[in-house]
Amino acid sequence: MEQKFCQSCGMPIDEQTFGKEADGTVNEDYCHYCYAEGKFTVDCTMEEMIVHCAKFVEEFNKDSETKLTKEEAIEQMRKFFPTLKRWKN
Ligand SMILES: [Zn+2]
Repeated sequence: MEQKFCQSCGMPIDEQTFGKEADGTVNEDYCHYCYAEGKFTVDCTMEEMIVHCAKFVEEFNKDSETKLTKEEAIEQMRKFFPTLKRWKN
């Protein structure tokens, strides 16, 4: 299966972490942290989301061969996030 990324926070997602619609069906575009019961859990701007995600950079580094500083992670997200469905336009 092709790796999917949450279209809100950019984290890799799979059956375990897909968001849920109000009726309990999965939404494969978003993770369960960002999207639950048919709506976004947090109403924020893209920049606020980046700052939020930057808190998890150490956790991300644990599972990644590329170790990023918080600044590098933020820089990458600023490039990556505008391509995500939630932040496009
Ligand atoms: Zn997410």
